[in-house]
Amino acid sequence: MEIKRYEIFMDVDFKGLAYDGRVKILMNSDKVELNAVDLSIHSLKVDGREVKFSYDGKLLTANVPVKEMAEVDFSGKIPEILMGFYRAAQGDYQMLSTQFEAIGARRMIPCVDHPGYKASFKLSVKVDADLDVISNMPAEKVEEQGGKKVVHFAETPRMSTYLLYLGIGKFDYLEDKLGNLPIIVVTPPGQRERGRYALEVAKGSISFYQNYFGIPYQMPKLHLITVPEFAAGAMENWGAITFRETALLVDQNSAEETRRRVAEVIAHEIAHQWFGDLVTMKWWEDLWLNESFATFMSYKAVNSMHPEWNMWWDFVLDETAGAMRRDSLRETHPIHVPVKTEEEIEQIFDDISYGKGASVLRMVEAFMGEEDFRKGISSYLKKYSYSNATANMFWEALQEASGKPIVKIMESWVGKAGHPVVKVESHGKGIHLTQRKFRFLEGEEDQWPIPLTYIADGKEGSLLMEGREQVLDIQAQRFKLNRGATGFYRSDYENWDSALEASRDAMDRWNVASDSFAKLMSGGWSVSQYLNFISKFKEEREYLPAWEVSSQLSLLQSILGDQVRSASLEFHRRQLQLWEGRNDPNGKLFRGVLARRLVAVDDSYAMRMASMVDDYWSVEPEMRLAVLYGVSLHSSNPFSRLLSIYREAKSDEERNRVLLAMLGTDKQVDLALALGFLLSGEVKRQDAGRLVPAAASNLKGGR
Ligand SMILES: [Zn+2]
Repeated sequence: MEIKRYEIFMDVDFKGLAYDGRVKILMNSDKVELNAVDLSIHSLKVDGREVKFSYDGKLLTANVPVKEMAEVDFSGKIPEILMGFYRAAQGDYQMLSTQFEAIGARRMIPCVDHPGYKASFKLSVKVDADLDVISNMPAEKVEEQGGKKVVHFAETPRMSTYLLYLGIGKFDYLEDKLGNLPIIVVTPPGQRERGRYALEVAKGSISFYQNYFGIPYQMPKLHLITVPEFAAGAMENWGAITFRETALLVDQNSAEETRRRVAEVIAHEIAHQWFGDLVTMKWWEDLWLNESFATFMSYKAVNSMHPEWNMWWDFVLDETAGAMRRDSLRETHPIHVPVKTEEEIEQIFDDISYGKGASVLRMVEAFMGEEDFRKGISSYLKKYSYSNATANMFWEALQEASGKPIVKIMESWVGKAGHPVVKVESHGKGIHLTQRKFRFLEGEEDQWPIPLTYIADGKEGSLLMEGREQVLDIQAQRFKLNRGATGFYRSDYENWDSALEASRDAMDRWNVASDSFAKLMSGGWSVSQYLNFISKFKEEREYLPAWEVSSQLSLLQSILGDQVRSASLEFHRRQLQLWEGRNDPNGKLFRGVLARRLVAVDDSYAMRMASMVDDYWSVEPEMRLAVLYGVSLHSSNPFSRLLSIYREAKSDEERNRVLLAMLGTDKQVDLALALGFLLSGEVKRQDAGRLVPAAASNLKGGR
């Protein structure tokens, strides 16, 4: 089967939430078999002749060969299910928008809905004259037709069906240019100014990638579109990226964390414009690579724009640490999992696929060297432009660029569940390394080819450890594995103090702290042995290791209670003192984290925070969650107090803060009120859906 082109006409009733459509598919096939979900099919023509068809609500078929074209007349309803072509509303504001990944395109039009069947799309849309219409390409012609208008979009390059976009509504715009390329933020009326920051990030990201990949951005424009109800955080439709409000818009009430998240999400989606859109996976089982790659690249891009943010610190906290925890459980799975049916796509991918995937890419980059890694990516993207590829083709490109055995290494890291721990012992002759599979609980044996790095008395070295044991011919007082924490493995030391002393920077100290917690969790240490070691971090001046220890103590406190309470209290009080008055972005960010953690263990501090609620809107955004948690735990009538702030709030970011605090209560009555409110219809479905399951772990859980 071959598909060349879709010509789509849609006559959309914006208020009636329905449409009539006609699609002409230029194709060649020995029969008609089109995906079409919950549509009404009126007629099918093959090469100009009307033919009989059957349709079961999912598949449109006719046992007739197609030489040139299949043409379908159909109509559809516009639901609110946040998938396909759907209605997204907030109060009186309504837009129609599409979310097609993975299998939503077939809900709008009959098509061969498979990423491997790329085609060009020529879309025309008829709507009321006062509405705006956005798609992947710019409009090339607008016609008036009986009081309505028809917008004809330019034909897209060859692309997969899941990347097609259609948005209809009354919008505000904020536009800028990068060279001749228009970049346009789309918001509900009256909110365009909140998109200014997004424009800056988008410009910076596109220039970064054009340079890094050595390939220009391919579309004639880029829209960044705010969608009021959205199941995903954002979606990389080619040339028309969609976002939740909290992933795109910021203002003076936004916390530092929100700015970073917005920058990261925009940079992630823009990375997909090349890796994903220009070159697409052949089949969904390589979706993990698509997502891992965009995740990894987003940190690289944002780091280039904001080196002062130390984005790789955020990377190890957000991507590596969580993935390693999940990957240490008996129930873990390999990064690569075979996907047989389309229904499996959404269920199979999780933190392991993406967080571990991105971390393994970082390990490979460190092993290859940045420049060879970049060259490999660039040649892969050039070779498969407008086409499809597999993960294996990607490893081959990296192998070719570096001359290193990347295919063999990746087969092991991607194909096997879990990761190794390397035991370090000093030996008469040198340093003795042994690897085994790391598990919180005992498990089977396994081993990996590990790209190891180390610091021995200030000198750095590296090797590819291929067997179970290896002796390094080094005499060193201070020795640490995993320099810069680029490796996705645990280290277990005979002498932990020596590893901490060997550390060169915050990344190394984070790595030692993280591995020491793994030692506790896998039963290698008692709680008091662990607390004794971790107390060495009490005076830590960099936020990455301090954040890690803060997370560990908070988690332990929620499990063990009094046994770690005083250690946690002491650590958080001391750290907050050290960070008092630090008003740079990192300082503000980390003070906010410490404050909300201290609220959970220190009643007098929590009450002091709670009292600041009277002047809530002048509290700096980073400290607001701590104040709200204080209210939640220590005010009389916390629910109604929080509810009134919720109703005063003007952004989803602010509303989400209040929801988190409502759910952070330790009283049954207030938790019931909060859950009731979440489901009342006043809260967006996208947020209620996310917060209900998270309800229990908000205050005391991890990050
Ligand atoms: Zn993505």
